Amino acid sequence: EAKEGSTGRVVVCDDRMVARMKRKHAVTEILKEELLNQGFEVYYQPIYRCKDGGFPVAEALLRLPDTPLGPIYPDEFIPIAEETGLIVQMTYLVLAKVCKFVRRLLDEGAKLEGVSVNLSVLQFMQRDLADHIAEILDYYQIPARFIKLEITESVVASNYEAVLSVMEKLAKKGVQFALDDFGTGYSNLSYVMHLPVDMVKIDRSLIWSSLNNDRCATLVEAVSRTFGQAGIRMIAEGVETGEQAAFAQRCGIELIQGFLYAKPMPQEEALPYLMGVKELVNK
Ligand code: C2E
Ligand code: MG
Ligand code: MG
Ligand code: MG
Repeated sequence: EAKEGSTGRVVVCDDRMVARMKRKHAVTEILKEELLNQGFEVYYQPIYRCKDGGFPVAEALLRLPDTPLGPIYPDEFIPIAEETGLIVQMTYLVLAKVCKFVRRLLDEGAKLEGVSVNLSVLQFMQRDLADHIAEILDYYQIPARFIKLEITESVVASNYEAVLSVMEKLAKKGVQFALDDFGTGYSNLSYVMHLPVDMVKIDRSLIWSSLNNDRCATLVEAVSRTFGQAGIRMIAEGVETGEQAAFAQRCGIELIQGFLYAKPMPQEEALPYLMGVKELVNK
């Protein structure tokens, strides 16, 4: 175990560690620069509604434009943004861009239910999170229900009391919450019962496993039906094949997010989906 301030410790730094630290530093510099010139792009992944083939919701996902290091994906830069604290300002940027887009969709008459935005745990450590979100909504004149905030169980577990109180504050203003990546962490039923959560997103690993693991399939179906009966809306994540979509529908899951129906895409491409112009015929 490493102790702070202990002397005489030998720090072994091999080439791979050095390379990793250099990479992390370079990515951090790129994040700072993109934050300064607002170069981040927000992609939108339209989410399919089983009952009518529409796309009433989308998830906002951050993208970095091409960098000198080549493409860098969220799985790499989000953890670095969290570690460096840059994620806080990045999220406010995402929220502003999303609200601007939602304003446009509403102005153009979209039958939109909302757009969801991912929140990191650091975001909940900001005392003014709820006020800041309210300010952004107000600026763009967006009713709170159109913005859905996605949190993972690990965010909740890291600081239950603080997270709960911020969530309740936001929920009172009408902001809705989705529990993301359900089934990968603690899958704590009490989180679903006691937090103001409107939606649960079943993680793609569970959807994928269900196709060749009967026991997994039975559990996913039971959980989906039970949550559904309790008034919690269900989303299946990571659906790539017709078999997976059929499985999700058999489970009574209302919404499907996956490459099968729509990939994350730039705003202009997502617009027709969310306007309801682009509907898929139920296969
Ligand atoms: P997430 O919130 O669970 O987002 C869903 C991820 O699944 C996205 O990856 C999406 O592109 C991917 N996905 C959707 N459908 C499919 C499918 O059919 N097959 C497969 N294989 N993947 C699919 P992405 O955009 O690379 O983002 C990865 C993670 O990075 C997100 O997972 C989220 O945790 C984080 N992230 C992305 N944008 C933001 C952001 O603005 N803020 C924060 N805090 N985190 C973000
Ligand atoms: Mg998410
Ligand atoms: Mg997810
Ligand atoms: Mg995920």
